[in-house]
Amino acid sequence: MDCLFCKIAAGEIPAHKLYEDDLVVAFQDISPQAPVHFLVIPKRHIPTLNDLSEEDRLLAGHILLTAQRLAREQGCEKGFRAVMNCNEQGGQTVYHIHMHVLGQRQMHWPPG
Ligand code: C5P
Repeated sequence: MDCLFCKIAAGEIPAHKLYEDDLVVAFQDISPQAPVHFLVIPKRHIPTLNDLSEEDRLLAGHILLTAQRLAREQGCEKGFRAVMNCNEQGGQTVYHIHMHVLGQRQMHWPPG
């Protein structure tokens, strides 16, 4: 399958990985928007948040808990932002779901 993040998950394209297990991979975003900016992705190809199903409950929770733990390990005690962009209007550009985790700077609301 011609998916960039599937290739990163499989180790076919290099990335600075922070964590990996049977279900997920976390790696530094190639174009960081904050001093801390990494992505948590499932190893399995799921194109958008709309494609998650009931069977993915454990996986979805695992993505969140991995994001939380790595944010703590990256020194984001003061806070961080975790976000998933969904589809074109949500600003998604890579169609393999990924949770952005951004930290170590002040975030603002509303986002652009
Ligand atoms: O949410 P969205 O789909 O727009 O985010 C895609 C993210 O993937 C971007 O932040 C981009 O910098 C990142 N990216 C990456 N490595 C690549 C290609 C894209 O970290 N090789």
